[in-house]
Amino acid sequence: MKGTFPINKFRELETPFYYYDTRVLRDTLAVINKEMAKYDKFSMHYAVKANANPKILTVICENGLGADCVSGGEIRAAIKAGIPADKVVFAGVGKADWEINLGLDYDIFCFNVESVPELEVINELAAAKGKVANVALRINPNVGAHTHKNITTGLAENKFGIRMTDMDHVIDTALSMRNVKFVGLHFHIGSQILDMGDFVALCNRVNELQEKLYARQIIVEHINVGGGLGIDYAHPNRQPIPDFAAYFATYAQHLKLHPQQSVHFELGRAVTGQCGNLISKVLYVKQGANKQFAILDAGMTDLIRPALYQAYHKIENITSEEPIEAYDVVGPICESSDVFGKAIDLNRVHRGDLIALRSAGAYGEIMASGYNCREIPKAYTSDELV
Ligand SMILES: *Cc1c(COP(=O)(O)O)cnc(C)c1O
Repeated sequence: MKGTFPINKFRELETPFYYYDTRVLRDTLAVINKEMAKYDKFSMHYAVKANANPKILTVICENGLGADCVSGGEIRAAIKAGIPADKVVFAGVGKADWEINLGLDYDIFCFNVESVPELEVINELAAAKGKVANVALRINPNVGAHTHKNITTGLAENKFGIRMTDMDHVIDTALSMRNVKFVGLHFHIGSQILDMGDFVALCNRVNELQEKLYARQIIVEHINVGGGLGIDYAHPNRQPIPDFAAYFATYAQHLKLHPQQSVHFELGRAVTGQCGNLISKVLYVKQGANKQFAILDAGMTDLIRPALYQAYHKIENITSEEPIEAYDVVGPICESSDVFGKAIDLNRVHRGDLIALRSAGAYGEIMASGYNCREIPKAYTSDELV
């Protein structure tokens, strides 16, 4: 089964480009809101780094999500799209002074802090403005995730977060400061996680840490469990919407909360991944020694995930129904890693055919680069191409 696309409209456009199906995005957001509403005090801050296209952010804002930002630029993008500052959280190991000041000027909801030196700078900059910054401490829970090694973040060896053994000390430091208010704990163990057991392991660790805090009579206002829910890259047509019911139920079942505590989520990929496609044109079909290459006008500069993480994207020839043949699907960039897939079954390929790289709505367009002096690909939504 292949996806359905407005092929005639596509033919009028210069390739490569991103195509976002806003129906898939809206359906996804509707399921998130419906499943989240089953639980008291669950809320979602969309991880802007997955896709900051203004048209996408606007739809996300219309559906009431907040934003999880990892840079000043992302804070600006979220605010510009209409997301209220009191729904913006700011994470990241290396926040520059200007970025902290920007967050303070907007009175964002919370800074997710990753070290004592950062805490000190936030306290100092907030003091200079006569403000008090809400801070959550990002704890490195030393919980592994069954995902690609480049996208685990919650292991002791990763650069992220505060060591569990340092937690008490950092909390004491935060409590002693006049211009920060300690309001939450933050965690994020990695990305493209499909095994709910990984999230259960995180819940167990959070429960342990909460018990320790409770022994000190500390109850934080919120627990932020980060993002990381994966999508079905192999079956974008059959499973366009991730299993949010199971995801939220896992946390509802395993997190031990105090009555007044809220839970914050920061999904990125699971929100936007399946609505996006990179549409490309076949430049050449070339015979190799024991294979054939379909050479596209899109490359790793447009979608770097296969080159960076050995990621799989389903590839479809959306303009041919001819018999299936196997192709190595490659881009035009002068790098051997510029390969989208090897021995991929496609309807027979001709120069000029349109190829869809599916499930490219997260960590796709936003990671595009100008390497080889290439243009950043344009992006269209289904709303614009009717
Ligand atoms: C990247 C990131 C997310 C989102 O991760 P996904 O796998 O896209 O859901 C959430 N929180 C933090 C802190 C992140 O860095």
